[in-house]
Amino acid sequence: MLNLILFGPPGSGKGTQAARLVERYGLLHISTGDLFRYEIGNNTPLGLEAKSYMDKGQLVPDSVTIGMLKNKVLANTEVNGFIFDGFPRTIAQSEALDALMTELDQSITALIALDVSEEEIVDRLLERGKTSGRTDDNDEAVIRKRIGVYKGETTPVYDYYAQFDKSIRVDGIGSIDEIFTALCLEIDRHL
Ligand code: AMP
Repeated sequence: MLNLILFGPPGSGKGTQAARLVERYGLLHISTGDLFRYEIGNNTPLGLEAKSYMDKGQLVPDSVTIGMLKNKVLANTEVNGFIFDGFPRTIAQSEALDALMTELDQSITALIALDVSEEEIVDRLLERGKTSGRTDDNDEAVIRKRIGVYKGETTPVYDYYAQFDKSIRVDGIGSIDEIFTALCLEIDRHL
């Protein structure tokens, strides 16, 4: 199985690239942000709880996020592999993901980080906010908060997988096709 973590700051193109990688490699795309938005759309208690954090640009607590992720993975074990998008975002989530993979006799193949500068990200998110319907993309203060959380809590996840020689960087600036080609080159090296 090929189990990838697509990593990078908000607005780095993870969702866009994940959709294309799913087609090429036949993986199941799991985006915790999408799972939360689905719960919010259905007005579930989990959705209501998640929304209170998401609207402020904060992380949803690990216990909630890890539980939801585990359910999704365990309900879909008959796949060619997973592409995790927006997860893990903390060291605790990384450790929980590794434990889950071990439980399934699996492991994370690689973490691929999309490299994009902060100013580019703010511009992209404000642009996305015009059409995405996402309240967290509309407010520059919330965007800056999300970038701050990424720098403080999430970048250590890159180093966590680097200690196992699993972290890779790919330039996240360029056309969607160029970035996709660069991602595939890295992935094919790990197949
Ligand atoms: P995203 O769609 O990945 O940009 O996530 C949108 C928001 O959902 C984030 O700003 C967080 O509030 C929340 N979220 C998504 N994934 C996670 C995660 N792995 N851990 C904690 N919060 C998350």
